[in-house]
Amino acid sequence: MNILVINCGSSSLKYQLLDMKKEQVLAKGLVERIGIEGSRIKHTTTGKDQVTIEEPMKDHKKALEMVLNALVNLEYGAIKSMDEIEAVGHRVVHGGEKFANSVIIDDEVMKAIRECIELAPLHNPPNIMGIEACKELMPNTPMVAVFDTAFHQTIPKANYMYPLPYELYEKYGIRKYGFHGTSHKYVSQRAAELLGRPIEELNIVTCHLGNGASVCAVQGGKSVETSMGFTPLEGLAMGTRSGDVDPAVILFIMEKEGLSFDEVNELLNKKSGVLGLSGISSDFRDLEEEAAKGNERALLALQLFCNRVKKYIGAYVALMCRIDALVFTAGIGENSPAVREHICNGLECINIKLDNELNQVRGKEARLNSDLTSTAIFVIPTNEELMIARETKELVEK
Ligand code: ADP
Repeated sequence: MNILVINCGSSSLKYQLLDMKKEQVLAKGLVERIGIEGSRIKHTTTGKDQVTIEEPMKDHKKALEMVLNALVNLEYGAIKSMDEIEAVGHRVVHGGEKFANSVIIDDEVMKAIRECIELAPLHNPPNIMGIEACKELMPNTPMVAVFDTAFHQTIPKANYMYPLPYELYEKYGIRKYGFHGTSHKYVSQRAAELLGRPIEELNIVTCHLGNGASVCAVQGGKSVETSMGFTPLEGLAMGTRSGDVDPAVILFIMEKEGLSFDEVNELLNKKSGVLGLSGISSDFRDLEEEAAKGNERALLALQLFCNRVKKYIGAYVALMCRIDALVFTAGIGENSPAVREHICNGLECINIKLDNELNQVRGKEARLNSDLTSTAIFVIPTNEELMIARETKELVEK
């Protein structure tokens, strides 16, 4: 079974075509600048050279048409005809409280996804455009929606509520939803496989550390707590997002600097995090380079980032009573030995200890813990596309 996985942003479309018999990537690519001058598609069929095609693409439908043409192209394509695509899996950011699992897309599901726009005004609309484009171009192909929030729907109420007036939850759905669910689910399942034990008996803490970053407590295969909240702004310090701050600070700055709603939003989402703190960059490679040269603010940003991850790990171990595996994933988690070392440093007290030599690995699956401890530490490159394709296959086969 070949499955096409689609991830639509406001002006971008990422895709992968997977052969699910062997779970192999047949082709993948990225469409950029949809609706903007200079639209292009970068397409790679496995085993062939990457091609870049520049052509005006006024909307997501045109972009998807280009993707399908690239996939069936005689020279650089991967399949002979569109009939070889048996199902499409769509990444959808927000499923609110309506979706605790992936679902086959029908009219009712579309209505429910639209109702979640209020909760994710930047993310759900492009996801919907992607689904609608697919519906028009491949009307007979079954489609599945896989939600970033679904995995966290198992979080108990005492963990997902905010201590605010209860009516705000009833009126607006204000609560923790959590994000990166597909990634936390994939790496926790993979950790159980690597341990050769049923996930039902394991307590795992997964750290998805990329531009956006979140930690998740996975007990018996279910998310029981995560660091992102009502929006992806809560929790860890991130590339440009503040993560946790005293809410009173925001009120104080608004008053002192006379900031509007949009300006505060921009400050917290785009100008804060390690970028705001260091004044240098949101990219950890730049920060590590500058810190090595003695830049104090770069070092401060790195230390603060790592301390927060460490605090969340400690809190989640306390919540679950025990930890069997700690997993690092995403750009920073997979590629920065220094960040992993800072995070684990001092966690021996909860039975977490890195082996410094094993920790030098970058970008590939590996076990990193010292022989002296029983808690496994893993690097597991995340693979959200594969997870989406697996869930799509399972539902379509049913
Ligand atoms: P997202 O998908 O959220 O945009 P990624 O998971 O791709 O982010 O992570 C991107 C981040 O990973 C970069 O901003 C960079 O800080 C970090 N990163 C990538 N490679 C390295 C590396 N070799 N060392 C340290 N950090 C790295």
